[in-house]
Amino acid sequence: MSLIVTGTIGIDTVHTPTGSAERVLGGSCSYFAAAASHYTPTRLVGVVGDDWPEEHRAMLNSFPGIDLSGLEIRPGSATFKWGGRYFENMNDRETLFTELGVLEEHPPAIPDHFADSRYVFLGNTHPAVQLGMLEQLPSRVLAVADTMDLWINIAHEDLRELFGVVDGLVVNDSEASQLTEERNAITAARRILDMGPTFVVVKKVEHGCVLVHRDSKDVYVLPAYPVESGGVVDPTGAGDSFAGGMMGHLASCERTDIEAIHEALAWGTITASCTIGSFGLEGIRSTDRAGLHAKMEQFQQAAWVGPRGAEVG
Ligand code: AMP
Repeated sequence: MSLIVTGTIGIDTVHTPTGSAERVLGGSCSYFAAAASHYTPTRLVGVVGDDWPEEHRAMLNSFPGIDLSGLEIRPGSATFKWGGRYFENMNDRETLFTELGVLEEHPPAIPDHFADSRYVFLGNTHPAVQLGMLEQLPSRVLAVADTMDLWINIAHEDLRELFGVVDGLVVNDSEASQLTEERNAITAARRILDMGPTFVVVKKVEHGCVLVHRDSKDVYVLPAYPVESGGVVDPTGAGDSFAGGMMGHLASCERTDIEAIHEALAWGTITASCTIGSFGLEGIRSTDRAGLHAKMEQFQQAAWVGPRGAEVG
């Protein structure tokens, strides 16, 4: 148990080919915590400015499984803001603006009563902040990080240090290529293993994900949950929700072995599919355990390739 997350809490403005949302609650930490809280109580550590909208607080408060005692509202500071526009394929996007605001100041403190956290997710934020958080969590049994293009570009050294101390890394295929200059997701994942983590998950948007692990020569692949075009309203936060479902599952069953990671990837996949059906956190809020289990059953049928060890032919 005791899952903790840090990352960004943002005010997002998102444009997709079918609609827009202005100033909705976003950020890596928000999506992750909302998703993970369906599986296990989730401790959030983050910072916003005093311009943070009251309705965003109400939105986070509406998830009973999120412990917000590590959320700092810093007077005189500005909340992180991000704007993005999705292209016609609903997968690729361009960042319209990133206003770091309070993220350029000192990071939030980890409350003393969070220090015993065992499962740690370092959501997207400056890698120096991710490193600082990890140092304050001596009881951790599993630390997994995410990163993205901005940090690969402006904080490469800190990122390499981070790879040396985390157990797992979850990145999308474009980030994996950017890190390794290798287009093939499996080869890129193996190169990242050489940089330090015990396992690497590469997400390939609607093509699912790939897992490589130091303790196995095998590659594990999983398709994405099948969603038709009308079902994708806003892909923002899909990656963070994937990580939330994955870590939420691992923390809830208190396991870190490869088999458990396989299962966790399936939970991450279906959790992410809930997020993309609405703007902001609405999709993940309107689901529940029963909905997730029903989706898992559908997913197992859709992805069926026969029992393990079945004869071919
Ligand atoms: P995802 O779609 O999973 O990549 O997550 C998108 C979320 O990440 C949005 O809600 C943004 O507020 C947040 N975000 C965008 N850029 C960054 C960044 N450079 N670092 C951390 N979070 C970010």
